[in-house]
Amino acid sequence: MDFLHALLGRIQSKLSFVSVQPINWKLYVQSFSWGVTLFESYLLLRQYPLYSKAAPPAILEGHFDKDTFEKSQRYGKDKAKFSLFAGIYKQVIDSALIQFGAYAWSWDIAGKILSRFGYGPAYEIPQSILFSAVLFFISSLPSLPLSVYQTFVLEEKHGFNKTTPSLFVTDMLKGWALGFGIGAPFLAAFLKIFKWAGDRFVPWLMGFLLAFQLSMVVLYPTVIQPLFNKLSPLPEGPLRGRIESMASKLKFPLKHLYEIDGSKRSSHSNAYFFGLPWSKHIVIFDTLIKESPPEDIEAVLAHELGHWYFLHPSKLLLISQAHIFTILSLFPAFLHAPPVLRSFDFPEHVARNPPTIVAFLLFQMILTPMEAVVGIGLNFISRQFEWQADRFATELPAKLFQDNAAGKLQLSEEEKKEVEDMADMGERLKRALITLHVKNLSTVWVDWLYSAYHHSHPTLTERLKAIEGIQKRAPRIAADSAKKEL
Ligand SMILES: [Zn+2]
Repeated sequence: MDFLHALLGRIQSKLSFVSVQPINWKLYVQSFSWGVTLFESYLLLRQYPLYSKAAPPAILEGHFDKDTFEKSQRYGKDKAKFSLFAGIYKQVIDSALIQFGAYAWSWDIAGKILSRFGYGPAYEIPQSILFSAVLFFISSLPSLPLSVYQTFVLEEKHGFNKTTPSLFVTDMLKGWALGFGIGAPFLAAFLKIFKWAGDRFVPWLMGFLLAFQLSMVVLYPTVIQPLFNKLSPLPEGPLRGRIESMASKLKFPLKHLYEIDGSKRSSHSNAYFFGLPWSKHIVIFDTLIKESPPEDIEAVLAHELGHWYFLHPSKLLLISQAHIFTILSLFPAFLHAPPVLRSFDFPEHVARNPPTIVAFLLFQMILTPMEAVVGIGLNFISRQFEWQADRFATELPAKLFQDNAAGKLQLSEEEKKEVEDMADMGERLKRALITLHVKNLSTVWVDWLYSAYHHSHPTLTERLKAIEGIQKRAPRIAADSAKKEL
């Protein structure tokens, strides 16, 4: 602990200028956020001409009929136009809020509301919660027309929208209630820890955030998601049988297997897993079940289990802890920094003794350059994980036979037969990916820089090529090891 605090102390002394020098932080935040928006618009302009291509990439020829390809190009074009407009619109709003002192105004309003009820400035936590709520509404309400347009015009036009206006409104209200129900106690605890731990808040706050993240892993599927979607146990049948037997061969601790009514809102489809290390749940979208045969869905699940096998979620959690640590260790320099608050129009009496929540929000805005770089880095890592999971699915039969030969697995004759039947896993995964892309009308021509910045998954073409590469390198690897076995 002492080493940790010595390290944090050194970082603080390097940043001590923040608390004294009158730097124009507002100008800095404005320039950088505009920089990010303009860069994102530039990426869209690079991507845009690709939506005019008349035919899909060679590797996809034969999988896309002309009509579907043209539909996907039109959908992509409409989405790109919308993103370009939405990005600039949101930036104009955010920029105006910063320029005209909306942060200081929200703090002031929150204080006034509380004082009506007889609570003075000593009640920092209630004022912080109210401040966050006011700020949330003034910054998010202007974008409401955008999500209405996106759902009821854009997605509707291309046949994806299944949301009714009443569902849209109840979703929104539920989301707000939930945000407040979880956000307010979270914020209260967060601020309490700051006050209680003083200068030594970093390890305590990290422990708190980790506990919060882990409890969300349990609460999200059991309490939160059922508020929006219906999860029902996947009925007995070939699909359930395949997934259960694959999970047991891999010793995946499958607790529940659900089908989710994703089609209630949208016809985009997917599958995922979640849970604690000893109890996992798999969720499959009803749309995916409708669109692909059980053997192809099995390949999608093999990909998902690849994420589990290589500990991808735990690795991401570890990276996020390192990220949180960096943020928290830089924060104390901004915690007692009147010039930062003055720069964002806070009056002298507030700036003299900065409220923690205000200091933290302004600090986060100042961090946007770092966050943009972290985002690109995380996308890069996530894409590596996707390649790895695709490889896992493609090589799964070979792996199971190797495990069996090494004595790590005891396959019965019937199970050996099942593994043998998995020999075409690569083909099935390719087919499932193509179906997913075709049904979702996903973009197939992607600019490399656009993709590097935005995408957490490799493009379809990249994935198909990689899977083909694995299949070519080990053409009949599964069959060969099967022969050895038998
Ligand atoms: Zn994946």
